[in-house]
Amino acid sequence: MNIVDIRNMIERLTLEEKASLCSGEDFWTTKGIDRLAIPSILMTDGPHGLRKQEGEADHVGLNQSVPATCFPSAAGMASSWNRELIQQVGKALGKESQSEGVSILLGPGANIKRSPLCGRNFEYFSEDPYLTGEMATAHINGVQSQGVGTSLKHFAVNNQEHRRMTTDAVVDERTLREIYLTGFEIAVKKAQPWTVMSAYNKLNGTYCSENEYLLTNILKNEWGHEGIVVSDWGAVNEAEKSVAAGMELEMPSSYGAGKKRIIEAVQNGMLSEEVLDESVERLLKIVYKATSSQVKGMNYDREAHHLLAREVAAESMVLLKNEDQILPLKPGSHIAVIGDLAEHVRYQGGGSSHINPTKMDAPLQEIMKLAGDQSKVTFTRGYDVNIDVAEENELLQDGIEKAQAADVVVLFVGLPERYESEGYDREHLHIPPNQIELIDSIASVQQNIVVVLSNGSAIEMPWLDKVKGILEGYLGGQAVGGAIADLLFGVKNPSGKLAETFPENLKDNPSYLYFPGEGDRVEYREGIFTGYRYYDAKDVSPLFPFGYGLSYTSFEYSQLTIDHRQATDQDIVKVNVTVKNTGNQFGKEIVQLYVRDIDSSITRPEKELKGFEKVALQPGEEKVVTFHLDKRSFAYYNTELADWHVETGEFEILVGKSSKDIVLKDTLTILSTEEIIPVFHRNTTLGELMKNAKTAPILQHLQSMMGESAEVGPTDSVSAEMMEAMMRYMPLRALIAFSKGKMSEDMLEQLIYQFNEAVKNKSINEDVTIGGQHNV
Ligand code: BGC
Repeated sequence: MNIVDIRNMIERLTLEEKASLCSGEDFWTTKGIDRLAIPSILMTDGPHGLRKQEGEADHVGLNQSVPATCFPSAAGMASSWNRELIQQVGKALGKESQSEGVSILLGPGANIKRSPLCGRNFEYFSEDPYLTGEMATAHINGVQSQGVGTSLKHFAVNNQEHRRMTTDAVVDERTLREIYLTGFEIAVKKAQPWTVMSAYNKLNGTYCSENEYLLTNILKNEWGHEGIVVSDWGAVNEAEKSVAAGMELEMPSSYGAGKKRIIEAVQNGMLSEEVLDESVERLLKIVYKATSSQVKGMNYDREAHHLLAREVAAESMVLLKNEDQILPLKPGSHIAVIGDLAEHVRYQGGGSSHINPTKMDAPLQEIMKLAGDQSKVTFTRGYDVNIDVAEENELLQDGIEKAQAADVVVLFVGLPERYESEGYDREHLHIPPNQIELIDSIASVQQNIVVVLSNGSAIEMPWLDKVKGILEGYLGGQAVGGAIADLLFGVKNPSGKLAETFPENLKDNPSYLYFPGEGDRVEYREGIFTGYRYYDAKDVSPLFPFGYGLSYTSFEYSQLTIDHRQATDQDIVKVNVTVKNTGNQFGKEIVQLYVRDIDSSITRPEKELKGFEKVALQPGEEKVVTFHLDKRSFAYYNTELADWHVETGEFEILVGKSSKDIVLKDTLTILSTEEIIPVFHRNTTLGELMKNAKTAPILQHLQSMMGESAEVGPTDSVSAEMMEAMMRYMPLRALIAFSKGKMSEDMLEQLIYQFNEAVKNKSINEDVTIGGQHNV
C-alpha cells in the first residue's frame, strides 16, 4: 500500500477508529479494522531470542513461550565486538520471527551501563555509546534483512530498574547527547529500526513516552527516524500527550482508556486531528510494510541456529586471567569440574527476554564430551546455587576432596538467577558467600584453579589471586556449554574483550553516590564520565579495564599511519595499523582506536572509543586494519550551538589492545570549519578578550591609552605577568571602577559593541577614546 492509498484510507476512518489504532489490540498485537481490512501485526520480545507466547501473556517472562534459539544476551554479544557475527544472529532471529508470524522483534536494548548494579545490564551492550551503537546496528540490520522489524529500546536514559516506571532521570544536555543518546543515534541513522520503544522513566521531568523533545525534535526531526515509536509495555501515562509528543503506538492494549482520552482531546481542541492523522499515517506505513514483508511457510534449521549460538557464545566469552598458561587444559589431565552452575548453568537473564530454548547444552556434559577418553573428569556440585549460605557443608567437603585429587579444577561460579533480573537492581557486586567459601577452600588444597563465570554484569573478585585462570562466560545462551568446552580445551581461541569496566570495588564506580537516586529522582551527576571515561580521568585502577581480554596467541601492532597531518572537520581521516599474530595458533584480535583531544578548552575524557575492528589471523599472518574517522570522531556536543563541534587543535590517535593498553599513538591537527562567534557583554572577562586574536589588539590599545590612569598596574612587588594573571578574570564592567572615572557606562557600551563587531569580521575604523569623545 503506497502513501496515497494510506492517506485515502485515513480519510475514510472515523475519529474513533483513528484513536483506536493508537493502542494495541491485546498484549502483543496491533489493532486491525475489519471494515477497511486494516491488518493487525504481531510483535514479541526480544532481544536475543523469540518469546512468542501462545498461552497467557505477560511482560516479565512468567509464562511459557514457543521454543526458540536462545543466543547469548547482549552483554556477551557485545564482548565479541564482531559486527558480522551479530548481524548473522540478527538474521537468524529474523528467520525465526518469520517462521512464527512475528512482524516485530522487541529489541535490541541500547541503554548504557551506567552502574554495574542495573538489574538489566545483561540485556544491554556496553558502557560505551559507540560500541553500543555499532552492535545495535548490526543486530537491527540482521533482523530487518529478513523482512522483520525491530524495536530499539528503551529510549532513553533507562539505566536502572529501581522505580523504573516513575523515576525521573535528570541529565544535562551534553551528557545526554554524548553518552546516553549516541548509541541510539548511530543505530537509527545506520539501520532505521522499524520501531523505537520509549522508556518507562521520565527524562528531565517529562515521561519519555510524552517527551516531544526526545521523540519528535531529536528522533524524528534531527535523526530522521522513519518508523514509529511504540511505548514500553504500560509506559503510557496520558495517551493524548503521547500522541502529541510523537509516540504512535501504546502497548499493550489499554482496553479503551487510551482511545477515550485521545477522542476527548481532539474534541475539546487539546489535540489537533491533523497530528493524530500524521501519527496514524506513520503507524499504518509500518503495519503495511510488515504485512507485505511476511514470508509464508518460512522454516528455519534449528541445528544450524544452535551451532551459530555456540559460535557466538565462544566469541562472547572473555579470558580474564591465564597465569602459567593454565588454559587450554592439557590433554591427559585429571579435571575436577566443581560447581552447581556446571550442571545448572545460567544462560539467560530473568524478565521479558526470558525465552524457551530449543535445546540446552550444559557445560559439564560438553566438557565430558570433549575430554573424551584422554582426560579423566570428575564432578561435584560444591554448593547449592539456590541458597547463599549452606547449613551443612557436605557439598563443600566433597568439592575439596575432588579438588585435591585432581590435576586441575574447573570451578563454575557466578550470579544466581535471583541476584540479577529485569524489574530490580542488584545491591552489591558479590557472588553468593557459599561460592566464595568454596573458592577459598579449594584454593587451600589446589593451586590449579580455573574459574568459569556465569553472570550478566560485572562482579567483584576478592578471590582473584587465589585462582590461575578466569573465563568470563556471561549469559551465553543455549549453546553455552559447548562454547565453554571449546574454549577450555582450545578447540577455539578466546577472542572476546570486555565491553564494560569491572571495577575493583562497587564504590569505585562513577555513579556510586548517585545511584539509584532519591525517591523518584536520579541525578546523573557524574556527567559524561561513565565507565572508562571516569576510571581514566581519575586514574582509578579497575579490576579489568574496558576493552580487555586475553587470547591463547599473541599479537603485535606496528606501522600506525594517519593519512593527514592536518585535516578539517569535514575530511575523512584514514588510519592504518598493521597487526600480526606472533603466536603459534589461529586467533582473532579486537583492535581498538581511541581519540584524545590534547588541548581542549572544555572538559573532555582522556580518550574515547571511535573505532574497532576484529581481525582473524593465522600464526605468523599480518593484516592492515583501516579506520575511517569523521567529524564526530573528534567532536563534543556544544550546548550553545546545540550541535556537535570540533575545536581546532591537536588530537591524539591511540591504538591499543584495551582502553588501558595503548600500544601505538600519533597526532594530527583538526581545523574546525565552523567558527563559534562569541558574544561579549559587560561581564565578559579581560582574559577572554585577550585570548581572542580579533579582540586582543583593541584591548591592548585600550590599555595603552588608559596607561597610568588606571588604578591598577604593575608595581615593584607585582610583575607584569602577575598583573595579567590577576586581571584575567576581571569583567569589563570593572573598568568603570578602576579607570579613575575615565570610563563611563556609555563608553563601556560602545566598547562592547566594538568587540562584538570585531569578531564578526567587520573592520574597525575608529577607536574608543579614553576620557573624551568616542566614536565607533
Ligand atoms: C520491558 C520491555 C519488553 C516489554 C514487553 C517491558 O517490561 O521493559 O523490554 O519488550 O516489557 O515484554
